Amino acid sequence: MEKTKKSTKRLKTAKALNQVVAEYYLECTDAAKTGKPVGWMPPMNGAIEIFYAMDLQPVFPENWSPVCAAFGLAPKNFEISEGMGYSRDLCGYLRNLIGYVYGPMDPADMPLGRLPDPDIIISPGGGCIPVMKIFHVLEQRFPNAKVFSADLPQIAVGEIKKHHIEYAVSEIHRLVDFLCEVTGRKLNYDKLMETVILSDQACALWDEIMSFRKYVPTPFSAAEIGIMFVMVTRQGTRTAVEFLTRVRDEVKERAKNHTGVIPDEKIRLFWDNIPLWYNLGVFNYFEKMGGVVVAETYSAAWSLRLDTDHPFKALALKSLMSYPLVSCVSIERRKEMVVNACREYAIDGVVLHRNKSCVPITLGQMDIKRKLEEELGIPSVIIDADHMDERNFSVAQFQTRADAFMEMLLDKKFGR
Ligand code: SF4
Repeated sequence: MEKTKKSTKRLKTAKALNQVVAEYYLECTDAAKTGKPVGWMPPMNGAIEIFYAMDLQPVFPENWSPVCAAFGLAPKNFEISEGMGYSRDLCGYLRNLIGYVYGPMDPADMPLGRLPDPDIIISPGGGCIPVMKIFHVLEQRFPNAKVFSADLPQIAVGEIKKHHIEYAVSEIHRLVDFLCEVTGRKLNYDKLMETVILSDQACALWDEIMSFRKYVPTPFSAAEIGIMFVMVTRQGTRTAVEFLTRVRDEVKERAKNHTGVIPDEKIRLFWDNIPLWYNLGVFNYFEKMGGVVVAETYSAAWSLRLDTDHPFKALALKSLMSYPLVSCVSIERRKEMVVNACREYAIDGVVLHRNKSCVPITLGQMDIKRKLEEELGIPSVIIDADHMDERNFSVAQFQTRADAFMEMLLDKKFGR
């Protein structure tokens, strides 16, 4: 097994995804050429719908990091940020982005071009500390960009009250006023409605696609997780709805025909934490012994329906809830989410990716491990790695642990 590897995909629509990705980055490049205002922002909040409704170009630097990792450019970016004094223990997204924006930014070997410089920066006031720090650095690196400093309370999903929502709605209005002022454009309410409806349709399709993974055998695995790209960059557009409809149709057909990822699915696995973006092939590794990664923590981030009758309120709630859905939740809630997913997806074993550079999602994994054993009798294995930095991933160690884990699971299930 190689240190860096692409995953083997079984969905035909995986090919269509390459086109969606290429078109998005082409659109970003064109925006810079045509003078369409470009805004850099964190993912998973209501700003994307407002940008698309106002015909502005949203750019997601955090999402650029997995792209750099997939194309083998992250090591160069790490070298630059580490040379500037950023510790190797910090989040890989942060180190990659800082290295990228302080590096040449347009490497000749980057098939998707470069990110256009931002005219606007939406700086988050929530999420994890690294994500906030990334935007503080971006503000310094692009001093001509107009900065909107968002101010949203960080509330656990179950504790969001009416006054939190009212405040978040006022923040959405403040964002709209800011964008109108700095771009000279207006927000058309009907266009916003249409965008929120499209965004909600994408969420509904996402949920439907995920639900087909409960079938035995599962029609698609974590190796196809790249489809998440449309949820990050294209929510609120027809592109996302059309693409996800094609994925849904294909997955539904496979489920109906009992077409699994591999001919003989024996063991169903759950992957906790972020994938290894430089080696999505890891998800296929278990297949030689009949193991399929049926579900993962990360996909829950996109499972959020919007109230299309009240677009401002819908976007306010989305902004309040999205981060806390995965990365900023209590350990109790994380345990509950993993245990519930294991029940729903009929999981036999859990792979806990102990992610060296994402503390928020790694915290509490030993508690999760204990709860899985005590409550469901489901064994788990810890894989030490990093979502961005391949230097923190040992292939030999991974293989040894994964093989032993699979042997044990097969023995437990089939008494071999
Ligand atoms: S949640 Fe983890 S991966 Fe995401 S920005 Fe924060 S530390 Fe980095």
